[in-house]
Amino acid sequence: MKHISLLGATGSIGTQTLDVIKQYPNQFVLEAMSVGGNIDLALQQIKTFSPRLVSVKSKEDCDKLRLSVPSTTKVVYGEEGLLEVATYGHANILVNAVIGSIGLAPTIAAIREGKTIAIANKETLVTAGHIVTNEAKMNQVSLLPVDSEHSAIYQCLNGENHKEVDRLILTASGGSFRDRSRAELKGVTVVEALNHPNWSMGAKITIDSATMMNKGLEVIEAHWLFDIPYERIDVVLHKESIIHSMVEFIDRSVIAQLGTPDMRVPIQYALTYPSRLERSVEERLHLWEIGCLHFSKLDFDRYRCMAFAYEAGRLGGTMPTVLNAANEEAVAAFLAHRITFLEIEQLIEQAMERHELISFPSLDVIIEVDSETRRFIHSRI
Ligand code: NDP
Ligand code: MG
Repeated sequence: MKHISLLGATGSIGTQTLDVIKQYPNQFVLEAMSVGGNIDLALQQIKTFSPRLVSVKSKEDCDKLRLSVPSTTKVVYGEEGLLEVATYGHANILVNAVIGSIGLAPTIAAIREGKTIAIANKETLVTAGHIVTNEAKMNQVSLLPVDSEHSAIYQCLNGENHKEVDRLILTASGGSFRDRSRAELKGVTVVEALNHPNWSMGAKITIDSATMMNKGLEVIEAHWLFDIPYERIDVVLHKESIIHSMVEFIDRSVIAQLGTPDMRVPIQYALTYPSRLERSVEERLHLWEIGCLHFSKLDFDRYRCMAFAYEAGRLGGTMPTVLNAANEEAVAAFLAHRITFLEIEQLIEQAMERHELISFPSLDVIIEVDSETRRFIHSRI
């Protein structure tokens, strides 16, 4: 039996994690969960899963929820609440599906408590990859990827020798605007940007896919998870999202992982690793139905966020923190109709240009640079 703490239960990954937990009641039990402000959904989830600990974002929601849940469910709130859920004593695995670098402190706290980490929250690895991976090593804790590309690479690397890996090849769908030129990106709307062709995801990551920042964050995520230098991480456009990613070995053999685009598959793999559980769903991959798979080279002028991410990754230190914080704030501003789509990348570029890099930053420095970058972006909007 795996005892699970889940951060971000009401989100896209969170609800799909609960789908997996529900499907295998003899394998998984939900011990603790956190949500943001979606209290109605949280209430339904508490009824179905009876977690012993729940955290919400605000004190008001905490007070409200306490009146509606059984006395066996403790309700807490805020960033302290996230820490309490992440380190909950009865859980042995943390699924981190919260959005943004707010997931960093709970991840580190859970690692220090020896919990296995199933990580969807890529912003945490981008903003402080060296600290998170080092803590995991020191505490002998596994970091299991939930992101489909990284789950694919993890599976391709099963039983392989790290020294024989030549290249990681991440696939990218191209997002909502993949068929538009740069000139055609002027004036695109939030609704258009949220219309992803292959995946149904939360709003922030859907915009990140449209700007291609999502793939940029994933390159940095892959660098930390698999300890591969940036010059050996490639991205190829693959609009069908059937090949989730590939690994090329030194003998030029390439192993790919395939499947229909369904996040429950990598979520389940992270929860059952190193075993697999049979899925009862009918849907499976029939390549004859798809017919053709397409691939094309990534154009760094078209997708400028990709160039920023590689640059931030190669520079290292605090630059990925700046990239991530600037992106989080710019995307939030775009979703709130306060800036245009192309202004997202302009703001990120400005934040990176003015930043004076600090190498090997401590956690305190990262937190400070993150806040400072957010203040800068706010001042420009
Ligand atoms: P969603 O926006 O759908 O969900 C985010 C979750 O975090 C919700 O439960 C939300 O609560 C909660 N939350 C947001 N802000 C706060 C806060 N300040 N305090 C506490 N809780 C908060 O995101 P996704 O599920 O799409 O993504 C989650 C992570 O997984 C991201 O890092 C993303 O990059 C990654 N990922 C997502 C994929 C996907 O298919 N969606 C694929 C691969 C990776 P509420 O809604 O109650 O306010
Ligand atoms: Mg992904």
